[in-house]
This record gives sequence, structure tokens and C-alpha cells, in this order.
Amino acid sequence: MKQDTIIAHAGLDPLANHGVVNPPVYHCSTIVFPDVATVHATRKDRHDGTFKYVSYGREGTPLTRAFEQAVAALEGAKTAVTLPCGMGAIAASLLAFLKAGDHLLMLDAVYGPARDFAENGLRNLGIEVEFYDPLVGEGIGRLFRKNTAAVYLESPCSLTFEVMDVPAIAAQARRRGVKVIMDNTWSSPLFFKAIEHGVDVSIHAATKYLSGHSDLMLGVAVTTPECDVPVRKTASRFGYCAGPDDVYSALRGLRTLGVRMRQHQQSALKVARWLQARPEVERVLYPALPEDPGHAIWKRDFHGASGLLGVVFKKQYSKEAAARMLDSLHLFHLGYSWGGFESLAVPTFPETLRSATEWRHGASIRLHVGLEDTEDLTADLAQALDKLRA
Ligand SMILES: *Cc1c(COP(=O)(O)O)cnc(C)c1O
Repeated sequence: MKQDTIIAHAGLDPLANHGVVNPPVYHCSTIVFPDVATVHATRKDRHDGTFKYVSYGREGTPLTRAFEQAVAALEGAKTAVTLPCGMGAIAASLLAFLKAGDHLLMLDAVYGPARDFAENGLRNLGIEVEFYDPLVGEGIGRLFRKNTAAVYLESPCSLTFEVMDVPAIAAQARRRGVKVIMDNTWSSPLFFKAIEHGVDVSIHAATKYLSGHSDLMLGVAVTTPECDVPVRKTASRFGYCAGPDDVYSALRGLRTLGVRMRQHQQSALKVARWLQARPEVERVLYPALPEDPGHAIWKRDFHGASGLLGVVFKKQYSKEAAARMLDSLHLFHLGYSWGGFESLAVPTFPETLRSATEWRHGASIRLHVGLEDTEDLTADLAQALDKLRA
């Protein structure tokens, strides 16, 4: 089936619930069993980690399974694990495959809280963390050690939007039995099919595009069949449990993912081109632009570009001037959690979030291009850019 058809139908089974189109929300802790034989069957199921039966609120309900099936189907995979937020998905995916004494390779331009988790969470557990240049490509092979257990990717990179050569890195990792874990939030499951490109665990902050309405926190890890049980067991062990109402809202938001992503892409490209023509702008960081250094790989591997992009100002504009510009915006609100219907802006400081590579450019900001009319958005940016020069 084609993608838009999958979006409309994935995870639905109306006849299993009185013909009601959407799966119901189950509010539960206790699940009661008809007899002891069923108690034993669900215990066995929990011990082998598959959690196929509904046996306890923490492990989710048929609604959770419907959400997982839908997200997995969108990414061309078979399985996915629901987590309470994107960071929970990152933590559970890493902890599933790392133990004390293991070595983790993590891209240098990773999402800031994931860097903090590696530096302060994983290192405290005795896991060696090494940051690598996201443009390393197949050169990653030279960084593997005997104890390398996982390589972590994010493409395009957080804040700076470099495009990684995911298939080249995944090929090197797979040859050595190293797990490939990727944060795929920027693309949503629609624009980058991570599992097809050799990734073992593809992480989404469902807080962002999947839910799409800036009203909930949720995460999901799309997995290869071998990685499903380790991630699911880790999530259960650490007590990562998503709230049923959030899962419901995310599944509802997912039904419009196709039309929303097409619009985000079209509007972001318009805004990006408009920004490129502005005299204050040194570079727009957005791989869908033909001038972007990552454009060739993006074109080769991705099916589209989302609404999130970076802007670097010319050297003569200070961080204070950039702050003045951001404070002057009316339509773009200042805020982090992009992926909703609304436009957002934040100042960025990529140079402070790197240790293996350097970022030496002028003041920068990140924009999320929402679903508003682009003429209104560029008018807002135009009056704010005037304040940058003031
Ligand atoms: C927001 C975000 C996360 C974390 O998701 P939460 O649901 O906020 O915990 C992870 N990765 C990326 C790229 C994000 O933008």
C-alpha cells in the first residue's frame, strides 16, 4: 500500500471493538484474569519479554499496541515500543544494549539532552562514551573497538543540520555486530526510512510531528525484530510507562501526518529561500536547499524535509543582536518543542555542545516553520530582521 493509505488505516481494527473506528482508551492498572491458566500464560509472555497479552497497566493496552503497529508500519518496520517521551525512548534504546565496560560511539552534534544523558548518565554506569564527527561516513570503521556495543546517530544533526551517511555507517557497524541506534525525529517516520537504511532502533520524539499538536509528551522506538524484545524489556524494567490519553492523542495526530508534513516541507522551503535572499543571513541550514552541503546525501536517502531549519547570521551581528531580533517576533513564539502546527524560534549555541569537532560561525537561531500562511511568517521575520540591524 502507498504511504497515505497506510497512514489512514495502520493499527485500526474497528470490528474488534463494536465497529468503533478508533481504538478506545483503556484506563487501567489491574487487568483481571479468567483463570489460573491465563495467569501462567501471561507470566510466561512477560518473562520472554514479548508482552503480547495485556496483563498489567505498565506494559500498555491494546491501544498502545495499535499505536506501535501504526508507527512501525509508517516506517516500513514490524515492531515499535512506546515510551513516555523522546528522552525515554533514547534512554531505553541505549540502556537495552549497553553495560558497564562497553564503548558507545555518539555523534558530536547530538541533541543536547541526549549528550547529557551519555556524559552524565551512561559514563556514571561505567560505559565509555566517545563522540565522533557526524561527517565521518565509512571512516567510522576506524573508531570501532573490541568493546564497541553501539553507534548512535542523528540526521540531520541537532541545531547544525549536517546530513549523515547513515547507510555507510550502518554497513560498517553491522559487519562488526555493533547496534545502530538513530534519533529520527526530524524526518518523522515518513521522510527517512531508518530501518531500511540499516538502523536497528529508530527513535522518535512523538511529542513532535507524530502527535503534531504541542499538547503531549510521548516517545517511540521503531525496532528490527531482534531489537524489539531488548528495548521493550528495558522500558518495562525501568518503569517507562506512557499515559493512555497521550497515546490516544498521538494516534489521532498521526492520521494527518502526511498532509501536515507535506505542508511543513513546502512552507519551510519557501521561508528558507526567502531567508537566503536576506542580506543579514550568512547561511540557511536546511538540507532540502540545493546549496546545502548535505543536499546530495539528503536527496539520495530521504523522501522529504520537515519544517525545522537553522539560520546563521553574518559575522557582524552579535548574539545580543540576534536576541533583539528573536524578541521582536510576534508570530514565531520562543520555545523548544517543535513539530506542532505553530511556528517557533530559539537562539542556538552549537559551539557549546561539541567536543570532537568545532563550530565556528556567527550567531545562530533555529526556526520551526508551522502551518501558518508563509506570507505572514516572512512578514514577521522581515520586521524582526530590521531590529537585528538596528
Ligand atoms: C525533542 C527531542 C527529543 C526529546 O523528546 P521529548 O519527548 O521532549 O523527551 C529527542 N530528540 C530530538 C531530536 C528532539 O527534538
